[in-house]
Amino acid sequence: MTTTLLWFRQDLRLIDNPALTAAVERGAIIPVYILDDTHPPRAIGGASRWWLHHSLSNLNNSLNKKLLLLQGDPQTIIPELAEQNNCSTVMWNRCYQPWQIKRDQTLKQKLKENGIDVESFNGSLLWEPWQVVKKDQTPYRVFTPYYRRGCLQKPSPRFPVPAPKKIRFAKSKTKSLSLNDLELMPTINWHQQINEHWLPGEEGAAQRLQEFLNNGLANYDTDRNIPSKSGTSKLSPHMHYGEISPNQIWYAALHKGDNNWEDKDLDCFLSELGWREFSYYLLFHFPTLNKENFNSKFDGFPWQQNADDLKAWQRGQTGIPIVDAGMRQLWQIGFMHNRVRMVVASFLVKNLLLHWHEGESWFWDTLLDADLASNSSGWQWVAGSGADAAPYFRIFNPVTQGERFDPQGDYVKEYCPELAGLPKKYIHQPWLAPEKILKEAGIELGVDYPKPLVDLKASRERALQAYQQIK
Ligand code: FAD
Repeated sequence: MTTTLLWFRQDLRLIDNPALTAAVERGAIIPVYILDDTHPPRAIGGASRWWLHHSLSNLNNSLNKKLLLLQGDPQTIIPELAEQNNCSTVMWNRCYQPWQIKRDQTLKQKLKENGIDVESFNGSLLWEPWQVVKKDQTPYRVFTPYYRRGCLQKPSPRFPVPAPKKIRFAKSKTKSLSLNDLELMPTINWHQQINEHWLPGEEGAAQRLQEFLNNGLANYDTDRNIPSKSGTSKLSPHMHYGEISPNQIWYAALHKGDNNWEDKDLDCFLSELGWREFSYYLLFHFPTLNKENFNSKFDGFPWQQNADDLKAWQRGQTGIPIVDAGMRQLWQIGFMHNRVRMVVASFLVKNLLLHWHEGESWFWDTLLDADLASNSSGWQWVAGSGADAAPYFRIFNPVTQGERFDPQGDYVKEYCPELAGLPKKYIHQPWLAPEKILKEAGIELGVDYPKPLVDLKASRERALQAYQQIK
């Protein structure tokens, strides 16, 4: 009987899993997940580890508890496993971080030398990065032509396949670790609210998608910018670990029968999936995206260093309400609304003049959806150093952003409850409130809520002057 070793990575699902489908068609499988602690240049962040723990637990249940859990170097473990268990083929879905590509290429070579077949599949992107290039064969650097002229002119993305009806498991001669042996769960109890807010796993992902299609797609074009509303899908952490594929989401949105949404809502939502593709595309073609400025002009930018300012930003204690609400949302539920991600990032790199690396690494550790491609490209976009980035001189004013996208201050009040008594005129700039109003709201600035860390106008001017140095 042919046995296939099926290596799960960022594809922790049964539905629309091309490698699983192909492996099951060949015969019996041995499914394995390996916590690779040898190759990644940086360990998985704390929030992401919590997610992974639960996602693996779910996948293991779906696989009748047959998922082999191991830890170490896949380049050693996979060939040993294949040999011990007489597997003639190893299959996996492709991953796209530079170190993963390098690791997998070497492993593929090694397995082939040992006489073992290897097959890899696309399970996490709508379009392979190497398939979309400009007429002159170079990669796109600007989103709109990449997406509209590049991707959308290609054949439509692969249609999702259902979960296999039946999976035959070969008995593994290798002993599995227990999930707890992987030590993914935090040792201190900061994850109470995260527990209440999220349901990692394939089923949780399907529920989120359904909820979004029922209630979020209509008005997505406008509501996706309002942080106090459930206007977006919150699918990003599920997508990071591949509990749902972009193909499932793409076609579910496209084929949604009832017509309570407008074309612009659908188009906008699909183009956000396009932004995810673009991030992976950039990382593939420019593998130093998370370390080096995409636009090298920024290499000479006069970034400041200030541990106190950084700490205030991380803790949501800058005295700028929309920034603090965002940073506290991140800390409490491991997620931050996209509009607010842009505002807090702009505040860090422009008003505080701290390097985008600082923000990127804090997000890496605290976001449940922390993703090398989307995080690096998001930060570089805001910093102005990225591909198709917001021009540096367009500096978000957090007060104006707050007044426009959180006009009643609902979002601020949820995460900065100490400001809840302020009238909406002052909710985004409490430092302008008269003493009497502050008193009535029970706030003493500098005691109950911080005074602003920087003057917004002066720090904006300082940022523009810094930009002059590299212009
Ligand atoms: P929806 O609005 O429902 O969008 C659907 C899906 O499209 C998302 O799940 C996501 O996969 C994708 N998407 C949407 N917007 C973007 C975008 N701007 N870039 C790339 N993909 C997008 N996203 C991550 O998944 N991981 C990150 O680590 C990450 N870091 C970011 C850092 C910064 C500074 C910024 C500005 C953005 C970052 N993003 C990141 C992108 C975006 O904020 C999130 O994908 C989005 O907020 C997730 O919420 P949602 O699933 O409700 O999105």
